[in-house]
Amino acid sequence: MTEQTFSNYIGGSWTPVENATANINPSDTSDVIGHYATANLEDVAQAIEAARSAFGAWSQSGLEQRKAALDKIGDELIARKDELGELLSREEGKPLAEGVGEVARAGQFFQYFGAEVLRQMGETAASVRPGVDVEVSREPLGVIGIVTPWNFPTAVGAWKIAPALAFGNAVVFKPAEIVPASAWALTEIISRSGLPDGTFNLVMGPGSRVGDALTRSPDVDAVSFTGSVAVGRQIALNAVEHMARVQLEMGSKNALVVLNDADLDVAVQCAINGAYFGTGQKCTASSRLVVEDGIHDAFVDKMISTMRGLVVDHALKPGTQIGPVVDQRQLDQNLSYMKIGSDEGAELVQGGDLPTRDTDGYFMTPALYINTSNTMRINREEVFGPLACVIRVSDYDEALSVSNDSDFGLTAGIITNSLARAAHFKRHSQSGCVMVNLPTAGTDYHVPFGGRKASSYGPREQGQYAKEFYTVIKTSYSQPY
Ligand code: NDP
Repeated sequence: MTEQTFSNYIGGSWTPVENATANINPSDTSDVIGHYATANLEDVAQAIEAARSAFGAWSQSGLEQRKAALDKIGDELIARKDELGELLSREEGKPLAEGVGEVARAGQFFQYFGAEVLRQMGETAASVRPGVDVEVSREPLGVIGIVTPWNFPTAVGAWKIAPALAFGNAVVFKPAEIVPASAWALTEIISRSGLPDGTFNLVMGPGSRVGDALTRSPDVDAVSFTGSVAVGRQIALNAVEHMARVQLEMGSKNALVVLNDADLDVAVQCAINGAYFGTGQKCTASSRLVVEDGIHDAFVDKMISTMRGLVVDHALKPGTQIGPVVDQRQLDQNLSYMKIGSDEGAELVQGGDLPTRDTDGYFMTPALYINTSNTMRINREEVFGPLACVIRVSDYDEALSVSNDSDFGLTAGIITNSLARAAHFKRHSQSGCVMVNLPTAGTDYHVPFGGRKASSYGPREQGQYAKEFYTVIKTSYSQPY
């Protein structure tokens, strides 16, 4: 079968492909999904120029035109969620239900921001000078560079692109090179949504070239990025060179606290979901399980028995609960952290092996470590794989202190029947999102998302808070005759 080649989308046209990279299915490395163009520096420059030219008209466009485009994109994503969810799961490796759910969620982001288009309200203020009127309004920012990771190939792009367009900005989108199919499919839908040419552009290819050029360009007014801390830091430095606005969502080392009074079933269900679903490849994953002494042994026993029943297999196979790791590089990183953990004295009590399946894929069974301390590297650095560590604590105060003792602060969870403890944890957790009796992963699309410390930098994403990043404020003074 001839494998298809997919182009970049610049200035309203699908551009000729000079170089392309194979997109490989991590559940079956003999399955090539297609060949996706890798942009060169000239392509990036053209995409930025196209966005710059389109920005003027789009920033002045009617609200109904913007809303119609966003609604059309959102509706089509939702209508095609099964087909596009399968494509997503095929290229990223999350089980089909998660892939379908992600595409539907991406559609909801467009629908939500389609509605936000009509909610762009300003403020008026009294002036300190009698007879003068003051207005505070928001305006589009300009050209937005969007750089996304591989773990949510459709949703992360959607939650950045939708508000960028809703508030009248032009976009250059650089998805992760190993998952271009979902980004291309989203672009194909956007290309038919009625946006003026150049308002939205896709440049695929490696971050070290395409992402670097995009985020260094003085013609890009703002960069929104999700990915690793190291790359985020570099992007911030690039952006500050030319005073561009920057928003970074990065890694984390989220803690799920389990107190003695917790419902054991809820605790285990939340821990399994938060630590291992999505193969643990979520910035919101609960990689640290901070468990109070009295429930520790029962919790560990139940975790082990539940984990033994988890089905690790091809992402598209019915019944699969945990798909493969995304690629060999990530699998090597997981294995290297397992060695680091063992060398540090952590005790592996379940999983961590590489099972063979009908197809050649990067399969790894979820791993659970006990007897770990919060100072170990496996509890301080983001692994981004199906690996979780139990940290035993003597009481709630120690649990809170361990939970907060991290360079990161994206999400934190607590499982307890105590309203007082839950309320105290919500108030004192040093994280951007707090979950009570819920997994640390899994958020809504209409409220802000983001973290503290090294997890996030810049204004929050999603919900009404997105406008803080995607608009610029103007204060106008006028004196009627
Ligand atoms: P990266 O931070 O390397 O990549 C994220 C995005 O940035 C990708 O589109 C990447 O492109 C791009 N990029 C890479 N280098 C540059 C650069 N110099 N300038 C501009 N853009 C660049 O994350 P990875 O995907 O490589 O994953 C590595 C680790 O990052 C993971 O193991 C995990 O710890 C963390 N991570 C965290 C995520 C989160 O949601 N918090 C999401 C993904 C990763 P390309 O990949 O095409 O080269």
